[in-house]
Amino acid sequence: MSLNILGSLALDSVETPFGREEEALGGSASYAAIASSFFCDAKIHSAIGEDFPKEYVELLQENGVDLSEVEVLQGKTFRWKARYKAQMDHAYTLRTELGVFSDYDLSEERPPIKGDILLANIDPELQEKFLSFYDFSGIVACDTMGHWISTKKNAILKLLRKVDIFLLNDAEAREISGERSLLDAARYLNSKGAGMVVIKKGENGILFFKKGLHFMLPGYLVGGVQDPTGAGDSFAGGMMGYLSSSERELNDIILRRALVYGSIIASFAVGEFSVKGLLKINMKDITERYGKFVELTAF
Ligand code: AMP
Repeated sequence: MSLNILGSLALDSVETPFGREEEALGGSASYAAIASSFFCDAKIHSAIGEDFPKEYVELLQENGVDLSEVEVLQGKTFRWKARYKAQMDHAYTLRTELGVFSDYDLSEERPPIKGDILLANIDPELQEKFLSFYDFSGIVACDTMGHWISTKKNAILKLLRKVDIFLLNDAEAREISGERSLLDAARYLNSKGAGMVVIKKGENGILFFKKGLHFMLPGYLVGGVQDPTGAGDSFAGGMMGYLSSSERELNDIILRRALVYGSIIASFAVGEFSVKGLLKINMKDITERYGKFVELTAF
C-alpha cells in the first residue's frame, strides 16, 4: 500500500542550543515521507521552487520517496526560520516565507488515489481541496500547527468532518478548543467530526482518543537531543506508514502499535539536525527500540 502525503517541502534554517543549520532539507512532507518509507511506499504531493537543491531531490528519491506529484514552480521554495531556547520544548518561528506556496493550487481533475492519505502540516484550505478533488478509499490523517490555528481555525474545523485521525500538540489542542483539560479538548475535536484524535506532548508522549479507546504513551526517552524540528511530522509519518503497510483491519491493537512506531521514529528524528536522524537508521534499529519500549512500559 502507498501513503499519499500532502505537505510542505522546505528549506529550514534552525538554531538550537546545540548548533545551527542554514537552508537544510525540511518541511512536513520531507519528514513524514522518510518516516513512513520504513513501512510503505510514500508519495509526496507538494511544490518546490527552481532553487530547491538537486541533492535534496536525490536524497528523497534514494530513500524511496515518490516525487512524481511534486510540482516545480517559478519562484522560491518555502522557507522556515526558527530558534529553540534551552528547554527545546517550543520552536520560536522567526520567519515564514511561503514562496511558491502562495501560488500552489490543485487542479480539479485528479486521478483516483489508491492508499491512505496524510495531510501533513500545510494550509488547511489546501488540505480540504486535496480531499475534495481526489477519489480515495483509505484512511485520512491530518496534522496542523499553531500558525494555521491562529489564521484559519474555521477551515480546520470544517475539515475535521472528513478526517479519520487528527493530530496536533497539547498547546494547539487547547487553543483550537478553548478548553484547558486535554480530555475536554479531545472530546471537542471528536464532536467536530474527527473520529480519532492524537494529542502530542513532545518528550512527554502522546494521548489518543476515540470512542471506546483512550490510550496514553510516554515519550521514548533519548539523550543527546539536537533538534526537535520534525518530531511531530516524523511521528505522523511513522504512525501512518505502519497503518498503511499491509491490508490491516484498523483495530485497537494495530492502532496502539502504530502510535508506538510513530513515537519511536520521532525519537530518532530529534537526534540530529534536519532529516539526518532518520537517514541513519534501519528497520532493525526501529524494532530494537520497539522491544525496549515494550519493556519500559510493561507492568
Ligand atoms: P514540526 O517540528 O514537526 O512541527 O514541523 C517542522 C516543519 O514544519 C519544518 O520542517 C518546517 O519547514 C515546516 N513548517 C513550518 N511552518 C510551516 C507552515 N506554516 N506550513 C507548513 N509547514 C511548515
